[in-house]
Amino acid sequence: LVVLDHVDKHFGSLHVLQDIELTVNRGEVVVVIGPSGSGKSTLCRTINRLETIDDGSITLDGEPLPAEGKALARLRAEVGMVFQSFNLFAHKTILENVTLGPTKVRGMKKAEADKLAKELLDRVGVGHQADKYPAQLSGGQQQRVAIARALAMQPKVMLFDEPTSALDPEMIKEVLDVMVDLAKQGMTMVVVTHEMGFARTAADRVVFMADGAIVEENTPEEFFTNPQSARAQDFLGKIL
Ligand code: ATP
Ligand code: MG
Repeated sequence: LVVLDHVDKHFGSLHVLQDIELTVNRGEVVVVIGPSGSGKSTLCRTINRLETIDDGSITLDGEPLPAEGKALARLRAEVGMVFQSFNLFAHKTILENVTLGPTKVRGMKKAEADKLAKELLDRVGVGHQADKYPAQLSGGQQQRVAIARALAMQPKVMLFDEPTSALDPEMIKEVLDVMVDLAKQGMTMVVVTHEMGFARTAADRVVFMADGAIVEENTPEEFFTNPQSARAQDFLGKIL
């Protein structure tokens, strides 16, 4: 579904993505891990063209990523993204946060968008909060709204960049549970996370990055029990 082929990117003299080869198949959950500064966020952001690339190619469903205009807006809808900070619109209600995309970008009628949003908010467990404002919700609830908002665009793939790292420990599980459910329902997902429990249980594949390169790629069982590279062994030694 998503194919990165010989992708290179620099930030000035920093070679932040080095010859990245990555294929994410439909329905697959790929967890990306690696040390701080290894390029995980940048990799994610290239997939919905929040970052451009210098070399190589990225395709979604066989089509090169569009550079601008309506096609780019459509791409951003098709590639849902959830960040560490929830980025909800503070002056809109929870329901409005979720209906905004479908009505503005997808041209959905308000009644239809409301119905969809309520279904999605129920699905992530915050249906009863629909008329509140983001500040009235806990971090975990806000993050679940952010997931519902991305899902409302009917994305082909969902990108998660450390979705739980800004949350208090007791709220992490409720967000991870929603992500596990999504994975079970067959959503294609790329997840940058330090939650190794999630990686072990939900990932089809673990991709380990260091210094802008994919150093290792394996099933979670193999990766966690038998990391091949010294970099991965060192990383796992520090976090497990
Ligand atoms: P973390 O685990 O801390 O989130 P990461 O693996 O997500 O790290 P990136 O955010 O992708 O790493 O950053 C990779 C490198 O690129 C870092 O050295 C970072 O400082 C640099 N970088 C990221 N964004 C920019 C930018 N817009 N301009 C210049 N350098 C950048
Ligand atoms: Mg990051």
